[in-house]
This record gives sequence, C-alpha cells and structure tokens, in this order.
Amino acid sequence: MIRDKKKIADYWHFDTNKNKVICHLCPRNCQLKNGQDGFCRVRGNIENTLYSFNYGKSIEATLETIETEAVYHYRPGAKILSLGNIGCMMACSFCQNWQTSQVKHLNTSNVKLYTPQEVVDKALKNNIDIISWTYNDPVVWQEFVVETSILAKANGIKTLYKSALYIESEPLAELIDVIDIFSISLKSMDDNLYRKVSKGRLQPVLDGIKQIAKSGKHLEISQLVVTGLNDTPEDAIKTAKWIVKNIGTKIPLHFVAYHPSFEYHEPRTGTEKLLEARDLALAEGIEYSYLGNIYHNDVSNTVCPSCGHILVQRFGLTVHNRGLDDNNHCTNCGQASPITGAAAMKKNTKISKPHRQLNYNWENGINSIHILMNEQNTSRHLTIQRIPSGETDYYEMNEGVDRLIISRSLDDETGILIGLDKNMNIRVLPVLDRAHFPV
Ligand code: SF4
Repeated sequence: MIRDKKKIADYWHFDTNKNKVICHLCPRNCQLKNGQDGFCRVRGNIENTLYSFNYGKSIEATLETIETEAVYHYRPGAKILSLGNIGCMMACSFCQNWQTSQVKHLNTSNVKLYTPQEVVDKALKNNIDIISWTYNDPVVWQEFVVETSILAKANGIKTLYKSALYIESEPLAELIDVIDIFSISLKSMDDNLYRKVSKGRLQPVLDGIKQIAKSGKHLEISQLVVTGLNDTPEDAIKTAKWIVKNIGTKIPLHFVAYHPSFEYHEPRTGTEKLLEARDLALAEGIEYSYLGNIYHNDVSNTVCPSCGHILVQRFGLTVHNRGLDDNNHCTNCGQASPITGAAAMKKNTKISKPHRQLNYNWENGINSIHILMNEQNTSRHLTIQRIPSGETDYYEMNEGVDRLIISRSLDDETGILIGLDKNMNIRVLPVLDRAHFPV
C-alpha cells in the first residue's frame, strides 16, 4: 500500500560522488542509497530517483470549522474540509496523531486515494470554500498539496496549511505562493527539545515562520503545552518574546492542551498552566492569545482592541458573533477588528424534521465527536439539538464527505440529540482533542 501509486518527487538531486539521492524537502536532507526510504517513510530512492509514496493518499476527509485548526482571525466559524495524509518528517514522542504520522503504525485500510480534482469537487459539492491540509503534517505531502491548492484557487477555494513547518525555504516559498492561511505549531523555543523529543531542529522552524510573516500571508502560531516538557512560565515567556521581536504583536498565539499519547504519558495539561501561559504572553506584548483543547468560558474570545467589547465568543469549537459588523468592525465603538474575511457564524436556519433521534451525552472528558455517515446513505441531512438549550443546527453533507465534527457548545450543555433521516445510519466516535483524529 505505501509504495504503490508512487510519483516522482520534487526537491532532490542525485549526488554522483556519494551515489545517493539527497532530498531537499525538509532540513533533515536524507541521503538515500538505491532502495532506501527517508526518515518520513513516504519518500524513497528507487533506482536513483526520489519518489513520493503518499501522493493523493489521505485519511477520511472531514467537515470541520476553521477554529479546529487554531485559526481565529480568519473568517470565524467558516466550514473547512480537512485532509491529512500519512507520514511525517518528525517523530514527536507525544504525537497527537501518531496513528497516521508514524507509518509503521498505520492501518492502511483507513487510507483513501484522491486526485486533486476529487478533493476540489468534494469541497464544491459541499459548499466548503476552505480546504485544510492538516493532521499528521502536510510537509511530506508537498506535491499533492501544491497541485491541489493551485486547482482549488482556480475554483475560488482557499487553502489552509497546519504544520510544524520543518521544511526547507525553497519548497516553503512554493507553498507561500499557493496557500492562503498558515497555522504553525511552534513546539518550543528549546532546540534540545526539538532534537531529543521531536527529532528535528528549532532554527529552520523559526526561519520558516519569519519567511511566512514577511510574505504577508495570514499566519497564526500555536504551541501544544506538554506536561513536563514545555509547560513552565519561562517556556511561554521565551515563545512570546521571540514572536514579539521577530514577527510582531498582532500574530495570534494559541496555547493548546495536550493529552497523553503515543510514547509520552504524563498527565493532560492543567487548565492553570494554560491560563498562566496566556497571561504571560499578553504581559510580553502579544495582543491576541487564546487557549485550545479546553472547554471553558472566556478563554478564547476575541475582544475589541479599543473598547474591550466581545467581538467573537468561543466555547470549545463553537463560535458566536457578539460584536462584529459586516465589515469586521466593532459594533460597540466602530474600531476595526483583527479579523480577516467575512465571518460565517450564522446558524443554518433550514431545519428538517428528523425521522429519529439518537442521544449522545458529554461524559468522561469527551467534549467532541466525529459523526461518520455510511457511504451508502443517499440522504445526508442531520439535525443537532443541544441539551438542555434546545438550540438546533442543521447539516447537509453531500457525496464524498462522510465525517463531521460536533463539539460541546456551552458550559452547561449535557449532551446532544442527533436527528437522522429515514434509513440513515451513522457511527459516532469520541474525539479527545482537536489535534486528535480517531481512525
Ligand atoms: S522529506 Fe522525508 S525523505 Fe525528505 S529529507 Fe525529510 S524526512 Fe528525509
């Protein structure tokens, strides 16, 4: 499965003296003898040519909102079509997506094969105007990401790149030309952590962040706060200081809770650690700092920089417009907000009457679920009724998108009623965090 459908890769040369292929996609610069695979396991030397083995290979495309990707200042509430590939140029011991990033643990029955046109068609059929390259890491999917993003742009669809950004500057320049939104995971300001825990290096990541910032493309930074690794006040201060000094005070900084995963089993990030990190970042001059993977009130709102009025209220992945006018100005004082693009938070008012309803209770620390349609379902109309508020959302999913994320939307919400059409079958998978994709 991994080596079938291979495609000649970009960014490599053959060194005749060493008799090896050298890959120039990520700063690891693997030197590969004939028959050898790179560290990422999805690129390899076959008869002195470098091939990509994951072109078009993706886990199930999922309908999400842009907040899932730690992007809060670009079209709040916008629907996105998320796709993740297989493999990774790093190997973090705490990886939150290790079932797909680490190829040796991959269950190949979860992998689908898409063409660029099929991905764009999925988005068009489902009225989704942002495609997100996400989950494991899109760096090792360069050829497919670039080709599909160009096609998406030609069809009026934007693209979002969620990555740890361990990539060389030339392929990054190619991405900057075609990607609209970058959400970059900066793991730490400690090069030792990168080397020991993530098997990478810090400096290329910092260089890449500066390269994106200089381009003027939309950029947000997130940091997974991992218990015992990067959760001290000094860690937060170093990150904030670097951002303020190098890319300015206006780039949003998200501190995101980690959960034990893969080879790292320290307890989940405490809320107080996240709150402390945010306070320290704000004290260093960061103007917008948010918390992620945490279901609390008032930790992820965007407020007016002038009068303090709440512009966008967020709870978990749920978003409400509380004070943005049609031009993204504050409805209270008229000041321009930091938000780019039209907000998409209006509720869909087309409510169908469901044939039957399933109950799901938010319990045992689970605040989100993936709802998986049966591919054979011809009708794909869902209602999600919140308990106890009774507020109801309506979803229509068309061909090719079989997975939807739903999360708890209020502090006092105890569960949801999932309304289904006749003969419609679904499966429900609990999701621990937004970084976690159960397969
Ligand atoms: S992309 Fe893969 S093969 Fe290329 S240098 Fe990085 S780890 Fe090695």
